[in-house]
Amino acid sequence: MQTKLQEKFKALFGKEGRVFASAGRINLIGEHTDYNGGYVFPGAIDKGIMTVILPNGTSKVRLFSMDYNESTEFGLEEADAPSQAWARYVFGVCRETIKRGGKVEGFDAVFAGDVPLGAGLSSSAALESTFAFALNELFGNGIDKFELAKIGQSTEHNYCGVKCGIMDQFASVFGKAGSLIRLNCKTLEYKYFPFKPEGYKVVLIDSCVKHELASSAYNKRRESCERAAAAIRKNHPDVEFLSDAKRVWLDEVRAEIPEEDFLRAEYVIGEVQRVLDVCDALERGDYETVGELMYQTHFGLSRLYEVSCEELDFLNKLARKMDVTGSRVMGGGFGGCTINLVKEELYDAFIKAAKEQFAAKFGHEPKIYNVVISDGAREICR
Ligand code: ADP
Ligand code: MG
Repeated sequence: MQTKLQEKFKALFGKEGRVFASAGRINLIGEHTDYNGGYVFPGAIDKGIMTVILPNGTSKVRLFSMDYNESTEFGLEEADAPSQAWARYVFGVCRETIKRGGKVEGFDAVFAGDVPLGAGLSSSAALESTFAFALNELFGNGIDKFELAKIGQSTEHNYCGVKCGIMDQFASVFGKAGSLIRLNCKTLEYKYFPFKPEGYKVVLIDSCVKHELASSAYNKRRESCERAAAAIRKNHPDVEFLSDAKRVWLDEVRAEIPEEDFLRAEYVIGEVQRVLDVCDALERGDYETVGELMYQTHFGLSRLYEVSCEELDFLNKLARKMDVTGSRVMGGGFGGCTINLVKEELYDAFIKAAKEQFAAKFGHEPKIYNVVISDGAREICR
């Protein structure tokens, strides 16, 4: 990809530029825990965005997207926002850097990516963190990595209309090959854990469906969690978020809250513990336990949190039937992907069965994405 980008950059701007890249992400476990102050456990993947870029000595940004085969040019004032959706990510990163006191001047860039769009692997975070990292290096701003992640998050909020949390950009900026990162969403403390599943593959199976329910259900889940936390807080005033609560504290209030809220909270409290258990297992290199905990998460998301759907339950059940080590829905739910930890010798048979049986039942094949945990934002040296 690098050669192709350099060639295009040279054709458009007459020289070679510096090369930066960043990555999409997966989340191994820790779902719907972010807004409950719990842990998430993401890692950067071997699919991302790469850009060739150089300052151009003007006050204008000239961008070329290889994947859209489209170019655009914009200034750096608020009023200069470009109309193309893909360019707004880059414009937002420029503006958010400037808002933080960083220097951004005109530059030329050609970029491309291989993160599937809208599949739950966060192509948008890859794009933001590539440019946030590159601008920081090009203009010598010295902005720390956490703030670079926040530049990406604020770009989504302020320029792309997506009120996301910090996980995607965090994983994309902080990602390291062979490591997952446990992020405490309340304190923002983080820790790397080894993830080198030798003899296993990590594969995402994309159901390619998105059910309508997603956003209203999401708000309802949040409200349930807040009500459960409030009930527990009456007995245990230190409970700020549901993730602070012990399971027995939830049992104490079972009669006071709607059963639905109880089930939602039961899932969240269990999930926070499962992230910790997965981290322990990874330190022992025990991938079978990791897989079992992934199945438990799927069960919780499907039966307690009720954010799965027929297609995802089907894929999960098939994985279990075929002795796949771990499988669960990844992301908010109601569609999207399952993430699977599969022994290499089982891989071909599992993928074949998933494609055929899913297509026979739902009328279209799922998409398959293999991922390897890789480095996040970085400069690529020639
Ligand atoms: P995702 O879940 O993949 O982050 P989003 O809808 O949040 O999905 O972001 C996808 C958007 O990000 C695309 O519509 C496009 O505007 C931008 N984008 C992602 N990858 C690329 C790329 N390779 N080239 C240009 N724009 C991209
Ligand atoms: Mg996105």
